[in-house]
Amino acid sequence: MKICIVGTGYVGLVTGACLADFGMEVTCVDKIKKKIDLLCRGEIPIYEPGLEVLVSKNFKDGRLKFTTDLRSAIKENLVIFIAVGTPQGKDGSADLSSVWEVADTIAEVINGYKVIVNKSTVPIGTAKEMKKYIKKKNPKAQFSVVSNPEFLREGSAIGDFMEPDRIVIGVPDKRSEEIMKEVYKPLYHLEIPVLITNVESAELIKYASNAFLASKISFINEIAALCEKVGGDVIDVARGMGLDVRIGPKFLQPGPGYGGSCFPKDTLALLDISNKHKYDFKILKATIEVNEKIKERMVEKIKVALNNKIENKTLGVLGLSFKPETDDIRESISLKIIEYFIDKKINLKVYDPKAMENVKKIFPEIKYCKNPYEVAENSNCLVFVTEWNEFRYLDLKKIHSLMKEKIIVDLRNIYDVKKIKEIGFTYYPVGRIKEKW
Ligand code: NAD
Repeated sequence: MKICIVGTGYVGLVTGACLADFGMEVTCVDKIKKKIDLLCRGEIPIYEPGLEVLVSKNFKDGRLKFTTDLRSAIKENLVIFIAVGTPQGKDGSADLSSVWEVADTIAEVINGYKVIVNKSTVPIGTAKEMKKYIKKKNPKAQFSVVSNPEFLREGSAIGDFMEPDRIVIGVPDKRSEEIMKEVYKPLYHLEIPVLITNVESAELIKYASNAFLASKISFINEIAALCEKVGGDVIDVARGMGLDVRIGPKFLQPGPGYGGSCFPKDTLALLDISNKHKYDFKILKATIEVNEKIKERMVEKIKVALNNKIENKTLGVLGLSFKPETDDIRESISLKIIEYFIDKKINLKVYDPKAMENVKKIFPEIKYCKNPYEVAENSNCLVFVTEWNEFRYLDLKKIHSLMKEKIIVDLRNIYDVKKIKEIGFTYYPVGRIKEKW
């Protein structure tokens, strides 16, 4: 099976490396030459655990190739996965310009039957629209457009791709269905559920899943806010809820709201789709609104911790990526915090195990530290924003001795309230009983 993956980012590179590892011949294409040059030298442009080993193994074995030559890759392969970015457009809708750019090239060079697979998250109706679009440009073209949304999570992407909860394939015809089943045959044999649907359902499953998880996060964040008012402890409340098998414990961790490259843009895109169909999707609207508000609440929490005296203080920020085990900073709450305080004549010191190079490109003027202890030195307040494992076992007594004022704002509830107070910190967690702070 010969496969081409267009877009060598978090999804495309993982998909390419995993399919090559299944034994397929895979060509990964990207329009950024620097990225492809790096990959051809055996270097990985992103941080994703285990990816470097998988890429280099399959590259050396000759099953995985990298190129900028999309035209040849389309001609030489049967299945063309589109895994380019679909960022948020100005009006909240998904910006599909990269997707249509690829469709243009396919229409120009297509040479025999192809299966075009939308792995990018695209609005409902895109597969059908793409079929018409390519046919109009090239009436002789023979192809099917399939929807195969991706559910991997950055930080555990390889495991998620190799052993997903389910594979969703939206097909317009039997021919493409058989070819897609062949692509996923290794997983089929592992008894991973493969759900074959029409293309619209598959497109909607992706948005519905992300919106549902986002609403779970917004829900628990509302409960956390209520806990702070009524004297409940959100950790206990979330556990009490999550033990109910109908609810489940996942995505019930209170914090600074959802960020990252998917939930913010996908919830907005689904709302845009609903609006375009004149459907008032109330739960989705509330989910988005709650998530926006929570960022302001977190900034407010930091200001309160500093007694609203910000000028000339030093704020230490620990964790910059939108979640642990990735260098992805898209829609990371840390950026909002830095953006707010940078204008307030405050000194900012930051540390992240993997994401500092990406943040430097946006905020070159702040201080990037070698480790959490350097951040703590002379800081008035430390804010924990991303729950990297290495933050869980810090020498808190050392941190205490290094800080100017002993204030911790813990947006991820990493620490035990009692222990941290015993060391002598003033502690601001999220949604915990006030008397315990
Ligand atoms: P990304 O930004 O990391 O990668 C996209 C890549 O596509 C970039 O390297 C870019 O240079 C390349 N590209 C853009 N236009 C191109 C073109 N015309 N030809 C060749 N290459 C081109 O994006 P990502 O995070 O991998 O996301 C890709 C898609 O998958 C999005 O639709 C996203 O919503 C979806 N998705 C992402 C995740 C995730 O966790 N990142 C999970 C599931 C689904």
